[in-house]
Amino acid sequence: MSRVVLSIGSNLGDRLAHLRGVIEALRPGLLAVSSVYSTPPWGGVPQQDYLNAVLVAQDPNLEPSDWLRLGQELEQAADRVREVRWGARTLDVDIVWAGQRRRDGEVPCRSADPVLTLPHPQAHRRAFVLVPWLEVEPEAVLEVTAGAPQSLRDLLAALDATEIEGVRRTDFTLGWPV
Ligand code: ATP
Ligand code: MG
Ligand code: MG
Repeated sequence: MSRVVLSIGSNLGDRLAHLRGVIEALRPGLLAVSSVYSTPPWGGVPQQDYLNAVLVAQDPNLEPSDWLRLGQELEQAADRVREVRWGARTLDVDIVWAGQRRRDGEVPCRSADPVLTLPHPQAHRRAFVLVPWLEVEPEAVLEVTAGAPQSLRDLLAALDATEIEGVRRTDFTLGWPV
């Protein structure tokens, strides 16, 4: 049993349709979906703006590695081609955070494995992740350093104001909850 926070983004083709495809595929396990944000590209490669959103999902039968595989299947279904690191893509599905449900509560997953690094090593540096995540989980914390949880608000406040301003809420809808 795991609960995950996913960051989804698209800047090629029918961007909104790519994001909606993720919602359709994950609908049974969805707990929350943020607004759709228009965001400038991150990472230095010149390319068109993204549409980004954050989802919270839960499934009794999925482990974090299963969410990764599912995300990659959705990327492939959107015909994603991997060319340049942080370059344009039809769909990116990243696991920002994962928690394992235990009898005595929820334990955040930590992993330095390059195949699945948790929490996502760049999440705290990205306004396009923190702004939508804050919208759906205003009280969430992120342990950038193990044992030192920081609120999303504090992490966001540490980013450049221009980067935060670049993340703009749109009127697009992803068809959730209906
Ligand atoms: P970034 O992960 O910095 O946002 P990206 O999303 O463009 O970059 P991808 O090409 O989508 O990178 O993925 C590269 C590899 O990252 C994948 O093969 C995947 O195994 C690995 N990876 C490691 N940790 C994660 C994670 N938390 N979520 C998604 N992919 C991850
Ligand atoms: Mg990514
Ligand atoms: Mg990715």
